[in-house]
Amino acid sequence: MTESFSGAHSPARALHAERTSTLEQIAALTRDWEGIVESTGQIGVDDEHDPEGATIAFERSQVESLLDQARRHLADLDRAVERLGEGTYGICEGCGRPIAPERLLARPTARTCITCAAR
Ligand SMILES: [Zn+2]
Repeated sequence: MTESFSGAHSPARALHAERTSTLEQIAALTRDWEGIVESTGQIGVDDEHDPEGATIAFERSQVESLLDQARRHLADLDRAVERLGEGTYGICEGCGRPIAPERLLARPTARTCITCAAR
């Protein structure tokens, strides 16, 4: 077991914490979305003529895009967890050198080092 990846402030910890909070975010957004869909059904929204309906349609598309982002982020996190299991986590895909732990803590899904990311 590598010390740097198993300590209290390790990238692996950060990765799992980020995954947990992303799952919570998805659950909360899903509840929001369901609430919006429900209220849409109750008032029988007409997007074009009802100003209330336009607001709800806007809110709904906002929530949908946030959900989409969160799901994509979760997929990135899942891939990072896989790499952690394979022992390739924290290795830059560009140059094959280790990614700085500070970078992984700030961005647990990073797949390249700062140098390669800047290229
Ligand atoms: Zn690199």
